Amino acid sequence: MHPMLRLYNTLTREKATFTPIDPTHVRMYACGPTVYDAAHIGNARPIIVFDLLFRLLRHLYGEAHVTYARNVTDVDDKINARARERGITIRALTDGTLAQFHADIRRLGVLMAEDVNGAGGRPRFIEPRATDHIDEMHRLIEGLVAAGHAYVAEGHVLFDVPSMPEYGALSKRPLDEMEAGARVEVAPYKRSPLDFVLWKPSKAGEPSWPSPCGLSEPGRPGWHIECSAMSWKHLGETFDIHAGGIDLIFPHHENEVAQSRCCFGTSVMAHVWLHNGFLQVEGEKMSKSLGNFITIGQVLADWPGEIVRLNMLKTHYRQPIDWTLRGLEESGRMLDRWYEAAGEAAPDAEAPVGVVEALCDDLNTPAAIGELHRLAGTSAPALKAGAGLMGFLGQTRTQREAARVDASGVDVARVEALLAERKAARAAKDWPTSDRVRADLAALGVSVKDNKDGTTTWTVAG
Ligand code: AMP
Ligand code: ZN
Repeated sequence: MHPMLRLYNTLTREKATFTPIDPTHVRMYACGPTVYDAAHIGNARPIIVFDLLFRLLRHLYGEAHVTYARNVTDVDDKINARARERGITIRALTDGTLAQFHADIRRLGVLMAEDVNGAGGRPRFIEPRATDHIDEMHRLIEGLVAAGHAYVAEGHVLFDVPSMPEYGALSKRPLDEMEAGARVEVAPYKRSPLDFVLWKPSKAGEPSWPSPCGLSEPGRPGWHIECSAMSWKHLGETFDIHAGGIDLIFPHHENEVAQSRCCFGTSVMAHVWLHNGFLQVEGEKMSKSLGNFITIGQVLADWPGEIVRLNMLKTHYRQPIDWTLRGLEESGRMLDRWYEAAGEAAPDAEAPVGVVEALCDDLNTPAAIGELHRLAGTSAPALKAGAGLMGFLGQTRTQREAARVDASGVDVARVEALLAERKAARAAKDWPTSDRVRADLAALGVSVKDNKDGTTTWTVAG
């Protein structure tokens, strides 16, 4: 019997037992990146955290019974501007950025489509792109107009916020307060300042698509409608879990809820809403002007992805996280210790209950990591199984060492030759030669360890 999964739901502001709508098909959606430029290390947080949730759901409900959709926003003002600067199409720009993003997150141990989607059956991981769902957006927008929740004005289609009395339920902002607080909107075509754009006309040179609602001018979608369209297409009108960073609660998620519920006449869009806290760098908000804006690629140039993943999961996902050099160094030492303890062991068939229970408590990763640390002192196979569930220790100690040597570019034959020379010098009590050889090895970045059993082992730095 599996432990109960409990999740903190932003919609109710409570931690509650997760009950899927259909346990044979658990469905989750996460708002993914806007691919106009290299993603920063903050963007890696929801990717890693919700990958862990996906792994946990697969563990609890079975691999064939979970579908995870994480979208890609491939049209917006920044994308349009960047593509125009470079004189390329938005597709060419976003294809390039997306390929880089995939290469980066693969190194963070994130499950990818090719890892989980079998030859047959329904896909388990889907990465829908906004511009491939214009049709669904049209249908949603026209449905909203027909239901009296949206209107056409000056080439735009707008969502009529006051038409939905429960608007604000997710972000806990009562409608009348929002109305009182709203700045007087300049857009003259809005009936209420709270109304938001579902579709708008494209300016000259911007990408455009045929418009819905009989509008003759071509246009492009507003931001929020894309996620209502993609989650509907791939997961249905109502699904289990919707996730993203805390900055998305308002207005993005609030508006997604309004669109989906009002179009389909449902009482919920997703049952559980999860939001990760923000990442800051060395105690400061990450920003280009402060010079502390770091991309995932820059972090990965200095640190193995597994260390980056552990460093991200050491903090509970709802807490803010301070990304520091010290934290990364600590995470590196922790992983070294786990690899050392796991050695060449094969994982237990079952994940250790302590780790599963910790994760089932609203993804309590600090507790799960504490449990792995304890297992490192008691059971290598259990450590391997628990770490495997969380996306760690995919290799044995020897394999990891070989990969490190490989990545370091050290000439293994030369190292072996120097070690042989050192052994001979030591046998002959030729200490000056032995010391010189040790210095040569150190210059290669190799450190040598003479073990109690008479063997000598070596490692490369980093
Ligand atoms: P964006 O590409 O800005 O739309 O963001 C993609 C995802 O990253 C969203 O789920 C955001 O909430 C999340 N995100 C952006 N910045 C940060 C940050 N500094 N810390 C944590 N999550 C973030
Ligand atoms: Zn979204």
